[in-house]
Amino acid sequence: MSKQKVSIIGAGLSGSLLSIYLAKRGIECDIYEARGDMRESEMSAGRSINLALSNRGIAALKEVGLDDYMLSQAVPMYGRMIHNFDGTTKLLPYSGRSGEFINSVSRSGLNIALMNEAEKYAGVKFLFNEKCVDFDCKSGEAKFESGKIAKGDTVIATDGAGSVIRSAMMNGGVPRFNYSQTWLEHGYKELHIPPKEISDFKFQISDSKSDDSFQMEKNALHIWARGSFMMIALPNFDGSFTCTLFLAHKGENSFESISSGNFSRRLTQINADRKNYFDLSAKSAKSAAEISLLEFFETNFADAIPLMPTLVEDFFTNPTGNLGTIKCFPWNAGGKSLLIGDSAHAVVPFYGQGMNASFEDCRILNELIEHRGTDWETVFDEFTLLRKPNADAIAQMAEENFFEMRDAVADPVFQKKRELETRLEQTFPDYFSKYSMVTFREDLPYAVAKEKGNAQDKLLMEICAKIDDVSKLDLNEVIKKIKKI
Ligand SMILES: Cc1cc2nc3c(=O)[nH]c(=O)nc-3n(C[C@H](O)[C@H](O)[C@H](O)COP(=O)(O)OP(=O)(O)OC[C@H]3O[C@@H](n4cnc5c(N)ncnc54)[C@H](O)[C@@H]3O)c2cc1C
Repeated sequence: MSKQKVSIIGAGLSGSLLSIYLAKRGIECDIYEARGDMRESEMSAGRSINLALSNRGIAALKEVGLDDYMLSQAVPMYGRMIHNFDGTTKLLPYSGRSGEFINSVSRSGLNIALMNEAEKYAGVKFLFNEKCVDFDCKSGEAKFESGKIAKGDTVIATDGAGSVIRSAMMNGGVPRFNYSQTWLEHGYKELHIPPKEISDFKFQISDSKSDDSFQMEKNALHIWARGSFMMIALPNFDGSFTCTLFLAHKGENSFESISSGNFSRRLTQINADRKNYFDLSAKSAKSAAEISLLEFFETNFADAIPLMPTLVEDFFTNPTGNLGTIKCFPWNAGGKSLLIGDSAHAVVPFYGQGMNASFEDCRILNELIEHRGTDWETVFDEFTLLRKPNADAIAQMAEENFFEMRDAVADPVFQKKRELETRLEQTFPDYFSKYSMVTFREDLPYAVAKEKGNAQDKLLMEICAKIDDVSKLDLNEVIKKIKKI
């Protein structure tokens, strides 16, 4: 293999991981990042944003030797903790097999670990505050706001959902370039539940991050499923939780109805002890919008409010993000450029797979280089054909999972189906639910998981709609039916 130099655009999760893979092959990498070095601003970065890391992502981290370190920094989540309106909770395990769980990791912690690892290789150079503004698909030159021009043997774009390289490919760089972007009517906002000692004066301040530091069950992904909207919370290593509220931008129960002070469902629905708490909060609320927010939370997430002392501040300070799916084809301009990660296939976050899929991209690309060398056009063509059907499959499953999370998890038939799936997984080692195939089977392409999983789901929902008690089902009969699909 002749000495190669690759320009990577974007030092996020995909770009940083990819640079390690390439550096391990002796390929030189310059990684251009629009933002500053997050390692320098990390001290003041404040609250953590977290991600669910699962098997596909872990498989890639293992290949670059970072799996043990990242898992030591992660909080395992064994199931979904469903929070009902009345404050009761129920844990729905992710799998019936032990050892199958997802991991909450800090996004910046993971990005920093990847960059630190990459920098151990002589050929890797990160260039921060270098915003790419254009790309010439014929010459392969990437242009930066600073006036810099990068030209290596090829350019790999890991510049995320708003990719500038993709725009250049679309705007005449690649003939017949297909592109679609579908926005959800829902957006998201990150909120915060601090560790116990900070929010609850009854607890002594301590350095220990034991289970006692968490205000809710530590080892679960918490979900408040409320039909047309929901809130989730993932645990952080420091005892806090990062909550994400998914809500329509406009209409009833929306970011707009809260911010305009128009959400109101009067206090008749709030039980006596909660009303006390609400009255206190409402008294200190300064505006109609703040009162609207508190009413909305009291009505829908009453058990979460006492855990969120900075709710009002967080809600009105933190940005509202958009959620969408981006699809495009092809992913490469011959051998001049390749899109990878969110730049090629941004998906909505409801399967917790965007980063995992992006890491799988890096793993598969590395395998292709292993077999084809650095004939970039051949490698990129093959990569695109291999990955595109899988990216489309996870995009669709992620959109469908929004309905499952916000709606179906509270549906009794769905809960029976999860119970049945757990029993099947406990009994038959070769049975995997759709969720398990997507999340725990790095050996199975997403497209296969989708096809098999949908057929299984249909059958199990039909069975569960007809029964009251899952424990009375003959599991051998059920598995026979599944094997006939
Ligand atoms: C609310 C939410 C929750 C999520 N939760 C999960 C989860 O639990 N599990 C999971 O697997 N995935 C999750 N995801 C998806 C995950 O965040 C993405 O799939 C992942 O970040 C993609 O990585 P990337 O490196 O391709 O892109 P990004 O992480 O977006 O990184 C792109 C990088 O490129 C840089 N950049 C952008 N433009 C330029 C430019 N012009 N020039 C130079 N640099 C540039 C950016 O600054 C950034 O550093 C979630 C996403 C959202 C929105």
